[in-house]
Amino acid sequence: MNDNAETKHLCPVCGKYEFEERDSFDMCTVCGWFDDDLQLVKPNLSGRNHLCLNEYRKKWKAGEIEPPIIDNE
Ligand SMILES: [Zn+2]
Repeated sequence: MNDNAETKHLCPVCGKYEFEERDSFDMCTVCGWFDDDLQLVKPNLSGRNHLCLNEYRKKWKAGEIEPPIIDNE
């Protein structure tokens, strides 16, 4: 209730999007990374994202990740 500041965190891949909660399974609208707490802790594991965090980051920096298509209802 009073620790919102600690649960908000920036996208670990692009650093441009802020997730509201820890482990929210939200998708970053900038790079398409899904917020997965386990993958943050173990960046070489795949999980919600089929690429591991280290690999995703590398590809994002190399421009190999397409920005997500956002479906606004
Ligand atoms: Zn991102």
